[in-house]
Amino acid sequence: YGDFNQKIDYVFKVVLIGDSAVGKSQLLARFARNEFSLDSKATIGVEFQTKTLNIDHKTVKAQIWDTAGQERYRAVTSAYYRGAVGAMLVYDMTKRQSFDHMARWLEELRGHADKNIVIMLIGNKCDLGSLRAVPTEDAQEFAERENLCFMETSALESTNVESAFLTVLTEIYRIIS
Ligand code: GDP
Ligand code: MG
Repeated sequence: YGDFNQKIDYVFKVVLIGDSAVGKSQLLARFARNEFSLDSKATIGVEFQTKTLNIDHKTVKAQIWDTAGQERYRAVTSAYYRGAVGAMLVYDMTKRQSFDHMARWLEELRGHADKNIVIMLIGNKCDLGSLRAVPTEDAQEFAERENLCFMETSALESTNVESAFLTVLTEIYRIIS
């Protein structure tokens, strides 16, 4: 009902990518509905949620797409990336492998998406600090080399989730306006 009678100035499509179980669906649930679930089931079929917000006195509808348990290279279809102006590249900071796979996800993304796409690298589950397997500096270095924004988040504790999405959406707005 939040969108009722509201004039939408922009619709921005943003895609979530990264390995299975890194917390993509929970980041989206936290951002779009302020919800979190510890036993989230794998989503079936491509799914998106929207959230309408104001940026610079304009009404922006963020349309955030979630991979539906198809998190294998090349299983995510080009339709998923089509029209995306932003991407969240998510790894689990307690799973080194999910970070090591970021380069391949980035390659997939760059092969399919618009060249001006705004990309944010996200190290999720920062509430599990004692299990950390990816130093902040490693991710920062990768992000700088690849020209990405970077943030560590917790969908569970709500840390930096709003901020990560807002940063991407504001940067998209800055580019297209
Ligand atoms: P997806 O496969 O990338 O969509 O991952 P999910 O969003 O389904 O999350 C996978 C599992 O990690 C679920 O059990 C979530 O509850 C859990 N999870 C997601 N985000 C966080 C987080 O920030 N902290 C912790 N501790 N667990 C999380
Ligand atoms: Mg999911």
